[in-house]
Amino acid sequence: MSEVNFASVIETTAAVAKGDVSATEATQQALKKIEQDDAKINAFNTVASDSALAQAAAVDEKIASGQPVGPLAGLPIAVKDVICTEGIETTCSSNILRGWVPPYDATVVEKLKAADAIIVGKTNCDEFAMGSSNESSAFGPVLNPRDLSRVPGGSSGGAAAAVASGMVAASLGTDTGGSVRQPASFCGVVGLKPTYGGVSRYGLIAYASSFDTVGVIGNSVADAALLHDTLAGQDVRDSTSLPGARESVSDAVEASQDLKGLKVGVIKELNGSGLAGFEPEVVDRFRASVDTVVAAGADVEEISIPAIEATLGAYYMLVPSEASSNLARFDGVRYGHRASGGNTAEMMRATRTEGFGAEVQRRIMLGTYALSAGYYDAYYAKASRLRAKLIADFAAIYSEYDVLMCPTSPCVAFELGAKEDPLSMYLVDIATIPANLVGAPAISVPFGTGAADMPVGIQMIGPKFGEGTICRVAKAIEEAKND
Ligand code: GLN
Repeated sequence: MSEVNFASVIETTAAVAKGDVSATEATQQALKKIEQDDAKINAFNTVASDSALAQAAAVDEKIASGQPVGPLAGLPIAVKDVICTEGIETTCSSNILRGWVPPYDATVVEKLKAADAIIVGKTNCDEFAMGSSNESSAFGPVLNPRDLSRVPGGSSGGAAAAVASGMVAASLGTDTGGSVRQPASFCGVVGLKPTYGGVSRYGLIAYASSFDTVGVIGNSVADAALLHDTLAGQDVRDSTSLPGARESVSDAVEASQDLKGLKVGVIKELNGSGLAGFEPEVVDRFRASVDTVVAAGADVEEISIPAIEATLGAYYMLVPSEASSNLARFDGVRYGHRASGGNTAEMMRATRTEGFGAEVQRRIMLGTYALSAGYYDAYYAKASRLRAKLIADFAAIYSEYDVLMCPTSPCVAFELGAKEDPLSMYLVDIATIPANLVGAPAISVPFGTGAADMPVGIQMIGPKFGEGTICRVAKAIEEAKND
């Protein structure tokens, strides 16, 4: 059987298009690799072998009969288990949704299918995407393919591990506070979070609706750009979807020669000299990445955004507040698990107590408290004002700078069980949440290793629809790494 190179989306799809390998062979290869390796990594909650092979056969038939095929023809791809897939169980890695099979596809899944990609399965994640290590999943933790004693990051840990271990060339994740970029950073792959509203959220099971985005994970910036282009666009079924044509990010990446004329701001609060907690090896790699960007011709300056110091508190008020409202729908009546006995209220209470894990319950309680009449002004409203200030601060900075840079995470992948108290886990998100609070596009690209030889990710944050620009800078960093 011919083999394809899952290190590259572009190579995989080109091999299928040329007929070097069939979509069925590429899919069988992915399924075989999953069968061999996933028993130890635990990246998949569901492997959809039958539907994947049926989809692949349909693509092969199209090719055989000379019909045109889509840009991702024959590409086996994994989808995070918070995104609805028609006919394939979708659980949010939660006991409350175990066994639930959505009757429809999310828009992003429709788009993957229209591009002739093959959905091979649903990836493990933190329960309802709440977490930074994939340890809060009801399906057990995912292990980091680079070191099985360490976490893959979260919440899209399975999506990143599936790509990093070569089971698939690409995956879809979601990013509400860093869940695409941080696991990409921990696993040594590329993760791209789009502009809020740039990619449809229809069919994404909501965590925090004003923060949620669907992002992509791949092995290179060019792959991430291609995947993103396939998903981007306005969707009338998502009321927060932004109008207007999307520029091709792939074209921007391909056309890019050097970074001359680009103004890049290094965020002081997040570069190791501001807020504490950044590992020295991460800071070293970050400095080296900045040197690379300077060498590529960009004009780099340090900038300060003092409001960043308050973002963690604001995020962990606003996001649980939205979650407490969004997760009210899981009541034992409409979806998934239902406890038996008692009257309706008792049934609902028992269903939610049995169905939700500890972290989800904590966030629902936090959010309900922050929204309650007596505390709304002190917590929710105050956090909203901080968010408004941060949006204004970023807008002012983007009138002068094209791209902002900082490490993706203050640390490399840590050992399983290393962060037991919730606060130490939340602190890991310090560098990723600003982009979510302001709705900005951001990318994480690997750039060597830090402590324990684990990968370090470098983050670029752009203005609204600045995906092309952040990808150009990421590409320069990626190329320097390969020198
Ligand atoms: N770690 C963050 C949280 O727990 C981000 C999660 C995400 O982006 N889904 O909220």
